[in-house]
Amino acid sequence: MNVDIIALRREFHQHPEPAFCEIRTAARIAQTLEAIGIEPQTGDAVIDTSGVVDYPTEIALEAAADFAVRTGADAGWTTRIRQSGTAVIADLPGDRPGPRWGLRVDIDALPIQESTEPDHFPAGNGFVSSVSDVMHACGHDGHAAIGLKLAERLVQDPMFPGSLRIIFQPAEEGGRGARSMIGTGVVDEIDHMLAIHLGLDLPTGHVVGGSSGSFATTKLRARFAGAAAHAAASPQEGRNALAAAAAATLAVLAQPRFSTADTRVNVGTLHGGESVNIIPSWAELTAEGRAVDDAVMADLCQRIVRSIENSAAAFDCGAEVIETGGCPTMASDHALAERVSQIAASLGATTEVLGKMSGTDDASLFMRRVTERGGVADYIQIGAGNRHPHHSPRFDIEESSLDLGVALLEKLLRTAGDQALL
Ligand SMILES: [Zn+2]
Ligand SMILES: [Zn+2]
Repeated sequence: MNVDIIALRREFHQHPEPAFCEIRTAARIAQTLEAIGIEPQTGDAVIDTSGVVDYPTEIALEAAADFAVRTGADAGWTTRIRQSGTAVIADLPGDRPGPRWGLRVDIDALPIQESTEPDHFPAGNGFVSSVSDVMHACGHDGHAAIGLKLAERLVQDPMFPGSLRIIFQPAEEGGRGARSMIGTGVVDEIDHMLAIHLGLDLPTGHVVGGSSGSFATTKLRARFAGAAAHAAASPQEGRNALAAAAAATLAVLAQPRFSTADTRVNVGTLHGGESVNIIPSWAELTAEGRAVDDAVMADLCQRIVRSIENSAAAFDCGAEVIETGGCPTMASDHALAERVSQIAASLGATTEVLGKMSGTDDASLFMRRVTERGGVADYIQIGAGNRHPHHSPRFDIEESSLDLGVALLEKLLRTAGDQALL
């Protein structure tokens, strides 16, 4: 077995799967780990999907499992993963005592139709998404490939202190994946928690050793309940849930800016109503808040919920608001970030020790857990020359960034505890 990192990345890219439907991806990860001599962990020991809001339906999971087998995933692994969730863990022992490292790599894709224009690299090179309206538009295909290549290197040559646990995490987008794993204790024994992200509008060959300033986020879904009525004969008998949701949309978007912390609000979807001649009896919207401070995030979230409930009341409707996902802010350990940037520089990268991470990543949940238990955590940004923004139909990573990611992580692990770098 020789893990071809580019081929794997392209294979994942061509077969993207959305949150918790990553059955093919997880099966291929498990299968590849097994081939390189690691017994992967899946199922109840590493993921608990019982509390996941909007977990895929049985029909969606069945379709994802069919897709997996049809496109070459191992049938045994497909069955196991379909039943027990799409998280996979690889434990790699070193050859001597040392820190217990954790590395989170995420594996999910996004509900976006990928560009098929020939100058979009995956389209021009025959590995554009084969699934309509689903695309790896955030580089997680590359993260999964990096995790597998690193695993192979460390199995072939286990000369490093301590151990590494690689966490292949589903459902990062939407902030539900880390939540589904954290309660099983997957990072409770970790001393040094790492997460990586490719792209982030940095050039290939540029590494940011650690990150701060990421947004905490809360994702919400509100369901409005009104009453249907004939739009001409008895409109006064109706209670217009769509009008309530429309008012709530404006109320959410009108939340104040905070002078104390950078914030964001968005209403991403709004649906409702039965027909053109019926007073709408129901509506549903999804909204998110973000803030670079956890207390401000909690305050903003309360305000969003209140504005939704008050808007519903204004139209004599009910509103039920549930939290579907979310995660806290993150902070990287300065010494570890410095170490990462030194190693990156020794590999020829241009570096910054600490940089702003201008989005959100639920790896922050694992990082928070490890630091609360006395460990350290670090979120590494690896430039990949993306010419188009994340989450857009022409997003792509330069593949030479993958080798740098593996080399950086490998050297970080092998040199842990060495004061001299080289
Ligand atoms: Zn993303
Ligand atoms: Zn991402």
